[in-house]
Amino acid sequence: MVPPCEARAVIDIAERIRHAATDETLRAAASEIWKRVSPTLFDPHDERTGLRVSDAGQCVRALWNEVHTAPKVFEPDVQLFNLDEGTLTGAWFACLLAASLKADGYLVELEPEVSFNGTLGHIDLYFQAEAPLTRLKLGLPPENGVVEFKRTNQSWSIKAPHEPNKSGETRRYQILQLMAYCAAKGVNDGAIVTIAPSWDGKMRVDWYDLDLWRDAVSGEQMRLSAALSPVEPEGDASEAFRCRGCPVIACPRNDRYAESRLEQQLAASLEAHAK
Ligand code: SF4
Repeated sequence: MVPPCEARAVIDIAERIRHAATDETLRAAASEIWKRVSPTLFDPHDERTGLRVSDAGQCVRALWNEVHTAPKVFEPDVQLFNLDEGTLTGAWFACLLAASLKADGYLVELEPEVSFNGTLGHIDLYFQAEAPLTRLKLGLPPENGVVEFKRTNQSWSIKAPHEPNKSGETRRYQILQLMAYCAAKGVNDGAIVTIAPSWDGKMRVDWYDLDLWRDAVSGEQMRLSAALSPVEPEGDASEAFRCRGCPVIACPRNDRYAESRLEQQLAASLEAHAK
């Protein structure tokens, strides 16, 4: 179930990014930040020995196979036009936002590593206004948060991550990831910037409040922990796209399961042993 989603907008992210994209000084500052951040963008992940915060929403059986047997392999076009393009675009938007925030005295961190109950992850962008303790003393709300950038080619993604698309699916997994980062950083507010070049608006920003998601985030971490168990769990993919191209052919929800004739082979083997 998706918790309620009312949340305050801590800063105007879209306005800041749009302004920085055309302001000469901010754009130059963003370019300098890019030079520092970009060398590590495509570094390979460390070998998998456990879960990552970005696993939120993954099917636990597919994840179990990745952890216990073989690393995930992507099709070249998925790697290039989905993952790599998303990384590049999101990183540049993050640099523009960082330049805008730094110019106004905010502390900004790009790609900081965090740990949520021992699960590691990398945040796209964390920001914090100057003098947080003075703000607290004055009774002002904290002005800090986590920002994640998600690029999509799918026009249904003009919806907020918590809103169902025409197939009834949400991008709840993106919110769970964001909220786990907020919990790791000890802040309450997080935003998802959805970059959708195929859509007229091209970018939308949705804020979420950790207080409303805390239980859901803990529940997700417990669900995913089955991927570390010695026993292979049942597949539990919530979204249809997760099963497309899934390497776990032994799962009855896999398109290639019927072709594999696994059940027939097992039945034949049992029959042979019974004789
Ligand atoms: S086919 Fe779907 S449900 Fe089965 S393991 Fe793969 S992702 Fe999970």
